[in-house]
Amino acid sequence: MEAAAASEDCCVKVAVHVRPLIGDEKLQGCKDCVTVIPGKPQVQIGTHSFTFDHVYGSTGSPSSSMFEECIVPLVDGLFQGYNATVLAYGQTGSGKTYTMGTGFKDGYQTGIIPQVMNALFSKIESLKHQVEFQLHVSFIEILKEEVRDLLDPASLNKSDTASTNTGKVNVPGKPPIQIRESSNGVITLAGSTEVSVSTLKEMAACLEQGSLSRATGSTNMNNQSSRSHAIFTITLEQMHKLNPISGDGSANDIMSEEYLCAKLHLVDLAGSERAKRTGSDGMRFKEGVHINKGLLALGNVISALGDEKKRKEGVHVPYRDSKLTRLLQDSLGGNSRTVMIACISPADINAEEILNTLKYANRAR
Ligand code: ADP
Ligand code: MG
Repeated sequence: MEAAAASEDCCVKVAVHVRPLIGDEKLQGCKDCVTVIPGKPQVQIGTHSFTFDHVYGSTGSPSSSMFEECIVPLVDGLFQGYNATVLAYGQTGSGKTYTMGTGFKDGYQTGIIPQVMNALFSKIESLKHQVEFQLHVSFIEILKEEVRDLLDPASLNKSDTASTNTGKVNVPGKPPIQIRESSNGVITLAGSTEVSVSTLKEMAACLEQGSLSRATGSTNMNNQSSRSHAIFTITLEQMHKLNPISGDGSANDIMSEEYLCAKLHLVDLAGSERAKRTGSDGMRFKEGVHINKGLLALGNVISALGDEKKRKEGVHVPYRDSKLTRLLQDSLGGNSRTVMIACISPADINAEEILNTLKYANRAR
């Protein structure tokens, strides 16, 4: 009983997703260098062995069970008023965007975000007689420690102005988006678009628009999306009608309401290879350092949260070290639930990055 309660309390769950070898890797003659221990959430590479909360894909459990096991509890929690965060971590090409469903062409039907939308709307449908719902969506990107609004209507015409606008993260004349914290600890993004949605179709349109905007925001889309963190946020507001009017006109027909608000962040993180100092020229180096900042801060925050001993000692959680962790502050730790999905390619040419990813994810446990 005690143990079950304790593991329920653990606010960070870590899953590893091993994608299959893809065409390019097969053409290069790559071998599968990742072993999943049957029946155990355990991965081996070379002489290294790691245990996580779950391991999916390749020879582990099928990735179809990932949504049920890792994500459904977060969606359910949203209806109870708990904030949550899903993070896709891994090197460029490891399957973060595919797993998350942030690139609407690839993962549109099967990715986590489209599945979350389906689950959310079917739950809303079943509760709509007792509860009044309001949904908002925002979709932003953090690049070089600057926040870019992927749902900004002005950015839709950006391709026209791209030549005069190269290198600029924000549309000129628009004040930069700011992360603010209210006195009760709620984090908001001042200046970013919050779209009110009432149907699955409307929410899917936001995902599509933002994904397109992310892809066209730079002349080299692979570069851009591998360097930035993309954050799709769903905010759910609920008004519970505790004593709905029975209609018989009796004196007890008092309508009392309970208000709940919670948000779910779905994060497609920057490529983890950027966490290293790869660039040599000034510009690249700056980007490297900044992205390093987000992933580094995230690693430190999650590791501080996951360590019960540290938590009891009241160790400082370094949320303020990056825009990413600042933005996620009220949805990491505390009562909120966090799932990190470490994405890996099984190809032997990636052995070093696979090991780095598994080490990073292991630190989060
Ligand atoms: P990342 O976002 O981490 O850079 P992507 O999601 O773009 O990686 O995936 C890289 C390539 O691998 C893409 O061509 C994608 O279609 C493919 N891929 C990723 N995950 C899977 C999977 N589970 N099954 C099949 N192909 C996948
Ligand atoms: Mg990607």
